[in-house]
Amino acid sequence: MPEPRPGELLIRVAVAGVCRTDVYVAQGRMLSADPLILGHELAGVVAEAGRGDHGFAAGDRVAVMPAIPCGRCLRCTSGMPECCPHHEFLGVARHGAFAEYMAVPAQVVHHLPETLSFREGAYAEPVCASLAVLKAGIQPAERGLIYGDNRIAELTKRVLLTAGFATVETHGMDPSRPLETDAYDFVIETEAVAPAFDEIIRVLRPGGRVVLKSRPPGPVAIDVAAAVRKEVVFESASYATFSESLKYLADQDLADLFDEVRPLEDFATVLAADDVGEDLKRFLSPDPVEANRVPPRPIAKDHTAPVATDQPSAMSAP
Ligand SMILES: [Zn+2]
Ligand SMILES: [Zn+2]
Repeated sequence: MPEPRPGELLIRVAVAGVCRTDVYVAQGRMLSADPLILGHELAGVVAEAGRGDHGFAAGDRVAVMPAIPCGRCLRCTSGMPECCPHHEFLGVARHGAFAEYMAVPAQVVHHLPETLSFREGAYAEPVCASLAVLKAGIQPAERGLIYGDNRIAELTKRVLLTAGFATVETHGMDPSRPLETDAYDFVIETEAVAPAFDEIIRVLRPGGRVVLKSRPPGPVAIDVAAAVRKEVVFESASYATFSESLKYLADQDLADLFDEVRPLEDFATVLAADDVGEDLKRFLSPDPVEANRVPPRPIAKDHTAPVATDQPSAMSAP
């Protein structure tokens, strides 16, 4: 059992999301503490609140922002702790969420709204990262492209659609379906590899904008001359605020992006599957039965897709 330090809460993990970062760290491609418990996307229950007026009590349902800010830099002192570049990341710099219990500073813990499930709470960090693209200088009327064929691309598309971007396309690297040259006002990258940037720069209109949002484990080559010829604008999106993320989750139904919660013991197979393909969001839990429970939703959510019904119709009954 971890021993919480002053200012920390002991949290019983209900659900932990599996993310690319976990795969990179497990593969030794990203510098990390060693030994280390992986996992940075989580929701759970406060097991021990300790002392201090942090506003939490044992039994509170919570979600955690995994980037622990330094508290001293310009971002921290100007009210943007989520974007602190000197943060300590859970599951990278210190023990993470693939555990029954973990200790985290109260400052990164947020109350989980009653209407949100633990899975939704554990999904707040990816949502927070996707919402950050709205801080870039992109406009709903522009022709935009989300470059990538993965669940981050899908989530980012949802975020843009709810923000009024009606004509966003998504496209993965696919030589058999080349994209139009000089066609897009902006491109949001979701998989930072060199060939992706070659194509992104080619398809942007001169003066177009690329929004960097992924966090590759190392440097990536970019054809600078090609970018300069087109006067491509590079912008980066780290995080929105965690509160905005929880609000987004309370307003939108993203459950179709989620896989079932799997037992924590399956972590090796779940991580290996995630490395092969990112389709649905994968989750782990020490108690999958509790974790799969969905709370009642008194607030009607905004379903962007029509709801399919698999109820047998009365007409077809024998
Ligand atoms: Zn993540
Ligand atoms: Zn800072």
